[in-house]
Amino acid sequence: MSPPVLDGTPQTHDGSRITSKSPISNVIVSKQHLVEPKEDFSGNYVFAPIREWEVSRAMSQRYFKDLYDRAISDVVIVGAGSAGLSCAYRLATEAPHLKVTIIEANVAPGGGCWLGGQLLSAMIVRKPAHKLLMEIGVPFEDEGNYVVVKHAALFTSTILSKVLALDNVKMFNATAVEDLIVKEDHQGKQRIAGVVTNWTLVSLNHDTQSCMDPNTITAPLVISFTGHDGPMGAFCAKRLVKSGLVPQLGDMRCLDMSRAEPAIVNRTREVYPGLIIGGMELSELDGANRMGPCFSAMLASGEKAAYTALDIFNNSKIENGEIIA
Ligand SMILES: Cc1cc2nc3c(=O)[nH]c(=O)nc-3n(C[C@H](O)[C@H](O)[C@H](O)COP(=O)(O)OP(=O)(O)OC[C@H]3O[C@@H](n4cnc5c(N)ncnc54)[C@H](O)[C@@H]3O)c2cc1C
Repeated sequence: MSPPVLDGTPQTHDGSRITSKSPISNVIVSKQHLVEPKEDFSGNYVFAPIREWEVSRAMSQRYFKDLYDRAISDVVIVGAGSAGLSCAYRLATEAPHLKVTIIEANVAPGGGCWLGGQLLSAMIVRKPAHKLLMEIGVPFEDEGNYVVVKHAALFTSTILSKVLALDNVKMFNATAVEDLIVKEDHQGKQRIAGVVTNWTLVSLNHDTQSCMDPNTITAPLVISFTGHDGPMGAFCAKRLVKSGLVPQLGDMRCLDMSRAEPAIVNRTREVYPGLIIGGMELSELDGANRMGPCFSAMLASGEKAAYTALDIFNNSKIENGEIIA
């Protein structure tokens, strides 16, 4: 015989349980609403009542409203690693009027920045990139030319919380960019005009599922930080090459910290009209050196991309997600 189900039914103030053998009725509903939440950790913790459909509707209503709203965005940031999050923070705080939409393929945003390097926790940031740490309130030890955050996850969780709290930012995670929108602009020139998205689980299973059409987000500017080459990584750089918009990938070169970090920051740019690339994805496009376990360039590249985007917005006229002048 099965054991009785532990239901944790809330209790009224006098300790009696609210139960009924009849189907849910208005009587029960009103009785349930009489239950006061109580934070009592001595064995009588009581939650405010909720019904399953309320949970479903609370989530789906907001998600689909966001999806509807962000079908036209000002900026799409692809990839929420250290570079993408640094860009989102700078751009969305400097320009609160811009709708910044982040697409992250993974369930967990943060990319490779939950650890320092080789599974070691500490995160190294060379000056002056540490100024972003000071601004967002991440503590560090000052070692002179560089600073050390005791755990990379402290940076990632802090910047993530700052970014997600901003009113003009929406992140869709577990969602992959699986193509770019390329159109003629107002001058008849080819331009990246947004992204094609799908839930990552669908994107990874196109070979087994035949009829899974994607969704789109129109935006005058896409900023890509999809990291190293991989099943998803370096996505926009690879797509540019595959579609013949740029001739070839440079492929990431061997490690040289001193050359690599300034190269990534200083070369972060609009690589094709409507598309800025930064972070380690840029090393794949340009053939820049890798820098190993040092995150300075990721933070500064994100910020450089944000300033580049602001310049573009300051010099363009935009209507319905398209540059018209
Ligand atoms: C082979 C290899 C070598 C490395 N070498 C270095 C190095 O030399 N220097 C260094 O600093 N770090 C290196 N790393 C570690 C790490 O990748 C980087 O430090 C750092 O995390 C890069 O930051 P990023 O923001 O550019 O990209 P990432 O932290 O990799 O973040 C990219 C994000 O984009 C998301 N994404 C990818 N494709 C898509 C898509 N199509 N749609 C939506 N989201 C997408 C990913 O899920 C991820 O969250 C290396 C990692 C690997 C695997």
